[in-house]
Amino acid sequence: MNQQLMSRLAKVNGFLLDMDGTLYVGPNAMTGARAFISALKTASLPYLVFTNNSSRAKGVYRDRLGKLSMETRLEHVLTSGDASADYLANETTYRRVFVLGTEALKVACEGAGLTVCDAHEAPDCVLLGYDITLTYASLTDACLLVAKGLPYYATHADKTCIDPRGLLPDAGAIIAAIETTTGLKPTILGKPELSMLDAGLRKLKKSKDQLIIVGDQLDTDITMGAQHKVLSCLVLSGETSRKQLELSDVSPDIVVENIGELHALFQQTGRLMN
Ligand SMILES: [Mg+2]
Repeated sequence: MNQQLMSRLAKVNGFLLDMDGTLYVGPNAMTGARAFISALKTASLPYLVFTNNSSRAKGVYRDRLGKLSMETRLEHVLTSGDASADYLANETTYRRVFVLGTEALKVACEGAGLTVCDAHEAPDCVLLGYDITLTYASLTDACLLVAKGLPYYATHADKTCIDPRGLLPDAGAIIAAIETTTGLKPTILGKPELSMLDAGLRKLKKSKDQLIIVGDQLDTDITMGAQHKVLSCLVLSGETSRKQLELSDVSPDIVVENIGELHALFQQTGRLMN
């Protein structure tokens, strides 16, 4: 690794860490993940774990990491659902939201001070998430509101979600159904968009030049770093293979096999002592 990159690593003072494919896959922690989280805590280096999955509440991720011996407090978890609710509450004047999403996303919106409404209760905007409770009736409501011209947002646009059974339809697939019906696309608020990065920076109380984004996906984690000039590290332990990286236009600043290798680089800079 060149000297310029090592000196950038030495200045890192905030970590945005993707979870699935980076810290764990299924029930298994990734190589080096436990030691890395433990070292960040020992060095009192601020970090957030973040995910584009807006179907579950923050507590689900805290509990999951806890079971894998990576104890993490609720305030260290950022989902695209929370980032989207924060964005609508802080950056728009819309207060009444029709949510095409799970109960967890509705709770996130209410937690940010928004009112969650049904389609007939005069919502100001539509927020779409990874809705594992989707019905034809709720999809119809969303299509009619979007077609009427209501401001339309989505927590993220990932097309698929990895599952032991195979690839499942994620928010992007629901976005596609609404686009097929209405011809309209939402404003995306999760990774790789600035709204998600800003939500992370606000929580960490850091600036972009102090941050590193670590993740396994080129089109979300690494694009977020590249688009917004934040140092990025691709781990090859998840969705992206070295072949896919070679074929991609998206260039991470650092590429490692797993988060344990990134830990070793930080140790070389003296940033992490254990
Ligand atoms: Mg991931």
